[in-house]
Amino acid sequence: MTPELEQPLDRLNRNDRPPTEADLRALLEVQGDDLRELYARADEVRRRAVGDEVHLRGIIEFSNYCHRRCDYCGIRAGSPGVKRYRMAPDEIVAQAVQARDWGFGTVVLQSGEDPWFTTDRVCDLLEKIKAEAGLAVTLSIGERPADDYSRFRAAGCDRYLLRFETSDRELFAKIHPDDDYDGRLACLDQIRAAGIQVGSGFMIGLPFSGLDVLARDLLFATQLDLDMIGCGPFIAHPDTPLGGHPAWADREIYFKAIALLRLMNPLSHIPATTAFDALCPNGRDLVLTRGGNVFMPNITPVAYRALYQLYPNKPCVDEDGGACARCIVRRLERLKRPPARGRGDSVKRGKGNG
Ligand code: SF4
Repeated sequence: MTPELEQPLDRLNRNDRPPTEADLRALLEVQGDDLRELYARADEVRRRAVGDEVHLRGIIEFSNYCHRRCDYCGIRAGSPGVKRYRMAPDEIVAQAVQARDWGFGTVVLQSGEDPWFTTDRVCDLLEKIKAEAGLAVTLSIGERPADDYSRFRAAGCDRYLLRFETSDRELFAKIHPDDDYDGRLACLDQIRAAGIQVGSGFMIGLPFSGLDVLARDLLFATQLDLDMIGCGPFIAHPDTPLGGHPAWADREIYFKAIALLRLMNPLSHIPATTAFDALCPNGRDLVLTRGGNVFMPNITPVAYRALYQLYPNKPCVDEDGGACARCIVRRLERLKRPPARGRGDSVKRGKGNG
């Protein structure tokens, strides 16, 4: 690492002199040998802090109904040509049982903000999955009223994933025409207060933003002290208001963000999110070698997969959950990383303590 980058790198994980936005901007611009060194250090910190094991979380995309209109999302309300589906609760439970049989320790239930799934229905679902599959459960179902989170916790919800998407208030308002930045952040507080492990994160490479916003996103995600930090590249969906916005010229920027997150958050779980494979075919594998320690295979029944397209070129839409489970084992073998056994709770807070 060149001498002028050593100091900002050194400040990434220091409480007495935390990194500044300028530090992060400088580190986001590294190339060549410095970039290789950045990735190697992130991989080493990951290995020392959370080990070589990769936690597997099977995602079930159970409904693509959504009442919101986020400007980047392929299933936003009113999006033309989206065939809507909603899995029956019993079908979701059966898929969670399959997930357990395929060896997953956690199931992630993901959907748009679908009002059909009332608080009672979600709680019922959680209780049945706990009773029949015995897995850790992550919910990723958007913003809910404050009281819902404690009810979800009581029904068995272990973790909740709700991304803040960007720390820039104006940009948030611009791309979320029917949502509120403060409301989103309040939800994260309420989730934590309910005793649920908190996952959040942002989109890397959003239009109308640059390295300054990305640097602030990295700082903000760190400040939130998250159990899990889930970030993915912005990939323009053609049928959305942000369709046609190009990816950033520096194609490494997405991986640099992951490496810096790991260096600043040694103990957080950091997933290789699916969208990285839409960026390049081995995108998720690269994330796992640059700070990531979680893989989230899609185990949605194949009949629905192609209908849950938040962004184009989504991988694995023709495979069933069993094929995805076998594929991830092969990918991890190539990386010489063992799949973790068990639930993979937050390393920061210990089992179930939020
Ligand atoms: S990003 Fe989520 S909340 Fe926004 S439109 Fe898409 S599914 Fe709905």
